[in-house]
Amino acid sequence: SAARDRYIKKTKTVCTYCGVGCSFDVWTDERHILKVEPGLGHANGISTCVKGKFGWDYVNSGERLTTPLIRDGDRFREASWEEALDLIAWRFGEIKAQHGPDALAFVASSKSTNEEVFLVQKFARQVIGTNNVDNCSRYCQSPATKGLSLTVGIGGDSGTIRDIEQASLVITIGSNTAESHPVLATRVKRAQKLGRTKVIVFDLREHEMATRADQFIRPKPGTDFVWISAVNKFILDNGLEDAAFLRDRVNGLDTYRESISTYTLDYAERETGIPAATLEALARQIAAEEGVCVLWAMGVTQQCGGSDTSAAISNMLLITGNYGRTGTGAYPLRGHNNVQGAGDMGAMPDQVSGYQKVGDPMVVEKHQREWGITLRPERGLDNTQLMDAALEGTLKSLWITGEEMSLTDANANHLAEGFEALEFLVVQDLYFTNTARYADVVLPAAASLEKEGTFTSTERRIQRLYRVMEPLRGTKADWEITLAVAQRMGADWTYSHPSEIMAEIARLTPYFTGVTYDRLEGYQTLCWPVAEDGTDTPLLYTERFNFPDGKAVLYPAAYKPRQDPPTAEFDLHLNSGRMLEHFHEGNMTFQVHGIAEKAPDAFVEVSPELAAERNLQSGQWVRLVSPHGAIRLQALVTGRVSGNELYVPLNVRKAENAVNRLTGSQGDSQTNTPAYKDTSVRMELLHDV
Ligand code: SF4
Repeated sequence: SAARDRYIKKTKTVCTYCGVGCSFDVWTDERHILKVEPGLGHANGISTCVKGKFGWDYVNSGERLTTPLIRDGDRFREASWEEALDLIAWRFGEIKAQHGPDALAFVASSKSTNEEVFLVQKFARQVIGTNNVDNCSRYCQSPATKGLSLTVGIGGDSGTIRDIEQASLVITIGSNTAESHPVLATRVKRAQKLGRTKVIVFDLREHEMATRADQFIRPKPGTDFVWISAVNKFILDNGLEDAAFLRDRVNGLDTYRESISTYTLDYAERETGIPAATLEALARQIAAEEGVCVLWAMGVTQQCGGSDTSAAISNMLLITGNYGRTGTGAYPLRGHNNVQGAGDMGAMPDQVSGYQKVGDPMVVEKHQREWGITLRPERGLDNTQLMDAALEGTLKSLWITGEEMSLTDANANHLAEGFEALEFLVVQDLYFTNTARYADVVLPAAASLEKEGTFTSTERRIQRLYRVMEPLRGTKADWEITLAVAQRMGADWTYSHPSEIMAEIARLTPYFTGVTYDRLEGYQTLCWPVAEDGTDTPLLYTERFNFPDGKAVLYPAAYKPRQDPPTAEFDLHLNSGRMLEHFHEGNMTFQVHGIAEKAPDAFVEVSPELAAERNLQSGQWVRLVSPHGAIRLQALVTGRVSGNELYVPLNVRKAENAVNRLTGSQGDSQTNTPAYKDTSVRMELLHDV
């Protein structure tokens, strides 16, 4: 009826569940979500996955925080916003005065908007005076960013999803694409079905994408660097490279050739388990294809050599001329909806927005003009260094926005000790998370459907989200909270809308020069870099790479073998990842009734061979033990895993069974990203559950 129609509203938003960046209209009646209607989104068109379509009940969950909480001994008491914000400003000021600015640190959220992340790093640098600021790409894609920065100069995807669909060959490495980036996987599968694209999957698990691939190859854990380098050497040794591309557009060939001289196919076969003949055929195929795209994710990056393997992938694309054309390029697939944006916005200990180095005199001068402070040149603490600093007593205070660190950080038990050692911890989230249990102040944040701003997807595509519903009573948007604390600490911040923050981002960030809210109206999008006149760049490197002479660099990366290989005591390799139905640790999606019913908890996948050897059946409870901790899960016997491989989803109902109680502190040698995938455990059967 007309009366009813008056209440029904249709609002465009962007999905918060992965980096693909699907956008759609949400139909609502007040806080009641009537339907999700895709149609005009660049990444998705008429598609969404289960999370984007049905995963929104969490905004109305009775578990939402609606009032600030302040610690009172072992308990928490409810407090007004005024009291909580005053307390935070006072304690931050006091700690800074007593111990200096580096006694404080800030964790921005990759689920927050660009504008919100920008303000967190501005708060750290301008109001407090520290570079101790980071975001969760430290746990996932920092190595890919590093590997690409070293070789082609920009740490983002080379092109768009439409460019991937034009490839004659798509190779995925360590990416469970169909579950972690579902709509992107659908687009690749469609291109494959149309006969346009062949798909080769490298992974430890035979996941859905692997079963549909033209070829599925299972290397030994942590050995991708070796097979890639062997393929590259074979191509160069046999004159299969793109000689013109190398001559005109790439530096460093001689040094690179020397660096991989020992990576013969035979050596690679011994180290990776992939037959030399398979690798030779692969090398010949890659060299002959019209266009190759490589997609990769955590199976590559969460290893001790994540940055080096990412650089090796980029080297492979360079020697075969697979950059700068549609259907070519490097695509590290971003996990969170705005993990690309969180890095772009400068929530990093050594770079401000646009990957500008804090020590660069021109960057310092620009920020001096805009912010009235001198940026400090030294690198701050990254997320993986925070807990050691807390235990050593140099870090006293931490403000965590929207990150469930106690479930997602490696070596969770060590993390708990670090949290306990802090003098003052602020946690800002939708729910009373496991991390919030350690807090001194807990702040209730608004959800993405309740606010305006922009996200940047894995395609470097900047998109606006609009307010679908008013913030739940008692909650505030992250940017409003940062603003309120900054003002209490004497900052002259006057933002009244996120568009004003974006105007400042555009002034300070070369890649964002031409980004305005007007140019992002409705379903309009921009892929950075965006020139002043609003011209964007969906496909990178068409004419030059991002180095002073315009040429790419073949980076002589080195193999970093696993640090935690199997032993007699810990004899099984543990792998981890996402379930299709859930997002990350699951704090949001376990609040969605239909999803929680369908996928109620984590489990451990055990191969049929191992199950037979240990006399184990599906449904049986087991204890997994590593040197760092132990967890209890039900076994699922499945051919998805093979031999001594175990797999546990990181989405878990109970914190005490989170997979990261088992992972250790070793990490990527260049970025400190935890080597989650480099973990050995033993499995004990439980008979008395
Ligand atoms: Fe959301 Fe990713 Fe699913 Fe798209 S593919 S609907 S962005 S979770």
